[in-house]
Amino acid sequence: MKTKIILLGPPGSGKGTQGEMLGGEFGFVRLSTGDMLREAARNGTPLGIKAKGYMDSGALVPNDLIINLMMEKIASLGDGTGVIFDGFPRTVEQADALGERIDVDLALNLDVDDAELVNRLTKRRSCPKCNAVYHLDYNPPAESGICDKCGSELYHRDDDKEETVVNRLNVYRRNTMPLIEYYEKRGKLRTVRGTGDIDGIFEKVKETVL
Ligand code: AMP
Repeated sequence: MKTKIILLGPPGSGKGTQGEMLGGEFGFVRLSTGDMLREAARNGTPLGIKAKGYMDSGALVPNDLIINLMMEKIASLGDGTGVIFDGFPRTVEQADALGERIDVDLALNLDVDDAELVNRLTKRRSCPKCNAVYHLDYNPPAESGICDKCGSELYHRDDDKEETVVNRLNVYRRNTMPLIEYYEKRGKLRTVRGTGDIDGIFEKVKETVL
């Protein structure tokens, strides 16, 4: 089984959702740089303060900050821990740094069209506490505005608002899409169509891991 897994794919393609499901099924640790940075920003840590402006505008946080953060996280994992990287690497420089530290055995690319991504992100609502995500139409919480899992109040991420979403998709195309070819050349890439129902996508995702 593959145990060092990168989730590629644009913002809103389902990396968080599928990563959570994979983690639950196989016991992998999911490392989401976005969740870590948002928590750091909420807590006002030096990293969070530096990262916030970039995140709010939909830009990438500088490579050195992200690489340091992730190298520390990787160092804290036990040997043989299965790990899913969600939202990292996002640049070739990050991918090179990761490749020096671990042998990636799968880069899973979730493929979703732009119109669908914009719909998903602008109607996404997130839990600030447990990081669960909902969609106002496809996957609404049982009680409006409240997280099913932990009861916290849901919010609309600033960077999920339409103006910023368009910027994030451009940033994705410019900086992160080259990683598709990067991992294809190394024989690690698998692409799964990320539309349709969540469980159906998960069945296809599982096949790439086994
Ligand atoms: P996400 O939750 O993965 O969509 O990430 C939210 C934001 O965090 C991104 O738009 C970036 O500003 C920042 N971010 C997350 N991961 C990275 C990364 N690997 N490199 C640079 N910036 C990142």
